[in-house]
Amino acid sequence: MNEHSPLEAEIRRRIVAGGPMPVSEYMALCLCDPAHGYYTTQDPFGARGDFITAPEVSQMFGELIGLWMAAVWKQMGAPENVRLIELGPGRGTMMKDALRAVQVAPDFRAALVVHLVEVSPVLQAQQEKALEGNGVPVFWHAALGDVPKGPAIIFANEFFDALPVNQAIKTERGWHERRIQIDSSGQLAFTIAPEPIPFFQTLLPPPLRAPRVGAIFEWRADTAAMELGRRVADDRGVALVIDYGHTETGLGETLQAVGQHAYADPLTVPGSLDLTAHVDFHALVRAVEAMGAVGFGPIEQSHFLRRLGIEHRAATLKAKSARAAEIDQALGRLVGHNRNAMGELFKVVAFAHRAIGVPPGFAA
Ligand code: SAH
Repeated sequence: MNEHSPLEAEIRRRIVAGGPMPVSEYMALCLCDPAHGYYTTQDPFGARGDFITAPEVSQMFGELIGLWMAAVWKQMGAPENVRLIELGPGRGTMMKDALRAVQVAPDFRAALVVHLVEVSPVLQAQQEKALEGNGVPVFWHAALGDVPKGPAIIFANEFFDALPVNQAIKTERGWHERRIQIDSSGQLAFTIAPEPIPFFQTLLPPPLRAPRVGAIFEWRADTAAMELGRRVADDRGVALVIDYGHTETGLGETLQAVGQHAYADPLTVPGSLDLTAHVDFHALVRAVEAMGAVGFGPIEQSHFLRRLGIEHRAATLKAKSARAAEIDQALGRLVGHNRNAMGELFKVVAFAHRAIGVPPGFAA
């Protein structure tokens, strides 16, 4: 018999006790199980880690976001106290680079308090190290709802893609929820719920209502997006969300597993792979706007970073550095349009209280 990891043993125990498991429950356990989850137990980032995110590619990313935040603060009327909230800060690199860059805006730096929303104790320890000694107060929370009320600038990079997705599959009898079972050979495998989901078709955008048999539809709970919208609308806030995904709701499976820079089967070694799925920006914007916030974008990351002046920043860094080729390579990774670059795949949306106007980078 196979020796299963403690998390796989727990998943199997739940399936045996309760029947096949929804994809969202599987994903939530794999990423955030307090004892064995991927984020809760390891540091997945960086060149030697499983994947690399924009702030880890180059300091330019966090610096530009910091300056964007300083400009937004002015647009908000320069409130005396402002919360800089980051959802899923990873290693804390973006915030560290942003706080260094905003030394040029001392009034803003004096007004801000950092609030980090993080589930992982391992990553929280990294964030503490990254932000140590920079003279700005930093607090940690398990959820956005726990951050004290008041004017806020909220930032999230690659946070929404890590939130659990549900999947449904079209059969001749309708749309069935996709679940995970133990198959006849004893492996974790996809299956479908026996009964179709009533009226599922009517909830889909009209162009998606006549799919082929076997088509897959993915969706996330709107809870996190709605909480973000509530903060922006009720507390005169602004939010910036960057992630990879599609601008229109569509069909297709995007759930993927990555370990050590390679794709893997999401049902193998649960808890030791990063599981993500594309962000449906159309659904995200709808959920945030439902709470009364105004949405801007989505625009491509390449456009956004160019409008914030990344090329100028790269030129300045190159003039002072012996590592010009490295800086060019990082620039290409952040704004390039080829398959390995982030410029086109990653999208940027902003949300603002209706009195605040268009955030920097989003003017037509
Ligand atoms: N923004 C960082 C890290 C992205 S990875 C970067 O760009 O490098 C996703 C981050 O979200 C990690 O810090 C992870 O621990 C955190 N995270 C994942 N699910 C979460 C949840 N449900 N609540 C809070 N944080 C979560």
